[in-house]
Amino acid sequence: MVIVLLGPPGAGKGTQAPILAGRLGLPILASGDLLRAVARSGSDLGRDVEAIMQSGALVPDATTVRIFLDRLARPDAVGGAILDGFPRTAAQAAALDEALAERGSKVDAAILVDVPADELVARMTDRLVCRADPTHVYNLGTKPPLRPGLCDVDGAELYRRADDEPDTVRARLAKQLAPLAEVVGHYRAHGVLRTVDGRQPIAAVTEQVMGAL
Ligand code: AMP
Repeated sequence: MVIVLLGPPGAGKGTQAPILAGRLGLPILASGDLLRAVARSGSDLGRDVEAIMQSGALVPDATTVRIFLDRLARPDAVGGAILDGFPRTAAQAAALDEALAERGSKVDAAILVDVPADELVARMTDRLVCRADPTHVYNLGTKPPLRPGLCDVDGAELYRRADDEPDTVRARLAKQLAPLAEVVGHYRAHGVLRTVDGRQPIAAVTEQVMGAL
């Protein structure tokens, strides 16, 4: 089963992905985590990617598609995956359809975690991520860690992503909401779009997603 998680930055995709992965027994493929790893690599490409991410813009399709489809081709994703953050443009959605069709697969469901734009800035600037494992995500407002600044799961330090600073957050929303609407349109046209209300408590969002699958 291939599931695409859609939503504006800060909607809670990264919170839902590990819960759904556990329930469904699927790996999570998160384009933001893949790109942050490239940015940390110190290569020329990494420096370019880092600068783009800090500006709040999307990384060009050619780079993102290559990195993401390489990851999707690894053995652990052959039986399906939860896609978090990819596709983010109509061109990426088309490239994904093509790659899946080549292996006799398709996107089974695209889940839009919907949150109004005015709530998103607060959500992102309150977000903290674990240094040891980026799938451990906290929020000072809705899901604070038990011990300030430390991950509940592994005790590692929590930090605020560089692109979660308020100015970058606003830039990300300004630059990323229009392409998201295109991707939503793509999956609506394919009849696989399901929308859940991302303003509900975390567990209620999960149940709505599971019900939609
Ligand atoms: P995320 O962790 O999903 O919020 O992504 C962080 C940043 O990585 C985004 O603001 C973009 O700059 C970049 N990024 C992540 N996924 C994509 C994608 N599918 N296409 C282009 N850029 C992406």
